[in-house]
Amino acid sequence: MKRVHNFYPGPGALPLEAIEYAQNELVDFQGTGMSLLEMSHRSTAYQEVHDEAYALLRELMELPENYHIMFLQGGASLQFAMLPMNLLAGGKVADYIDTGVWSTRAITEAKIVGQANVIASSKDDDYNHVPKDLPFTPGAAYVHLTSNNTIMGTQWFKYPDTGDVPLIGDMSSDILCRKVDPTQFGVIYAGAHKNLGPSGTTIVMMRDDLLAKCDPSLPTLLKYSTHVENQSMFNTPVTFTIYMVRNVLRHLKATGGIEAMEKQNFAKGELFYNFLDNSGGYYTCPIAKEDRSIMNIVFNMPTTELEEKFVAEAIKNDFIGLKNLPQRGHLRISLYNSVSIESVRTVLEFMKEFQRVNG
Ligand code: PMP
Repeated sequence: MKRVHNFYPGPGALPLEAIEYAQNELVDFQGTGMSLLEMSHRSTAYQEVHDEAYALLRELMELPENYHIMFLQGGASLQFAMLPMNLLAGGKVADYIDTGVWSTRAITEAKIVGQANVIASSKDDDYNHVPKDLPFTPGAAYVHLTSNNTIMGTQWFKYPDTGDVPLIGDMSSDILCRKVDPTQFGVIYAGAHKNLGPSGTTIVMMRDDLLAKCDPSLPTLLKYSTHVENQSMFNTPVTFTIYMVRNVLRHLKATGGIEAMEKQNFAKGELFYNFLDNSGGYYTCPIAKEDRSIMNIVFNMPTTELEEKFVAEAIKNDFIGLKNLPQRGHLRISLYNSVSIESVRTVLEFMKEFQRVNG
């Protein structure tokens, strides 16, 4: 069996154990005589999977009982619209912090619905840091930030104190990468397909006072209350994706939980950034040191020709997913939870050798 070094930005690497676990019971799910793929979401066997995914997420996130969990569809992109539809309608105001492509998308959607103030942006600095000066609007419905900027390569390591105004965090690309106090947030949402599982579901965690404030006049499927009241089964959930999320969370718990994961992720980040910083300017990172993401590392090389050659040779050596989107250009490596420290060491050896030959 061949396994490459998977540095894709998402969908991205999953624990091999979680995939093999699914493989082993794919055809006959726990003696039911059928695959989970063909099983009703109303069956007892599926319900157990669903409940376990909920319970593991609550446990690993240390999420208090006054937060509701939802497994939704439509991606984090639907949440860009659904959150303001529920919380911003009726003349309210919300604050947004612009840290790149994904926050810009969230802002665009919010502005369709209501008044979204962009209170801070790092755009003028090519999004190379997260803004520190945050002039919040008193009495705003919420403040929205993107916890990790998948394309820009920045991450919030200390979330701002927004006082009585609820903070909403898009944690699509760094959920469960480190220990976070969820009570700093009114809402946390994240697409599954980076740290939690394959694509297909978006997890939303919402504090109950915010749930109570949601616009009751929306169509059924766009109301959070519909999903909370029906434990995300008002309509058919993405059963197999939720099953895989459960497998990934089981694996995370069995391998030391969030503390071990945090330690490993910071170690991976440190290894990589130290290598860049000590390459004599051959590999450079444009991001302010204190805001450098440990999930998505962006870097440059002396010329675009060298960068192209680098990516081509990387692929030949089974290092997959190193090119960034044109919004930032240059190179990116995604070191999500399931990327091992061995993969990081191996790619760094390759990079060292590439520099020796091409430097
Ligand atoms: N937010 C962030 C931080 C992302 O990285 C992405 C891309 N996966 C999205 C939102 C959009 O997610 P989706 O494609 O699932 O709608």
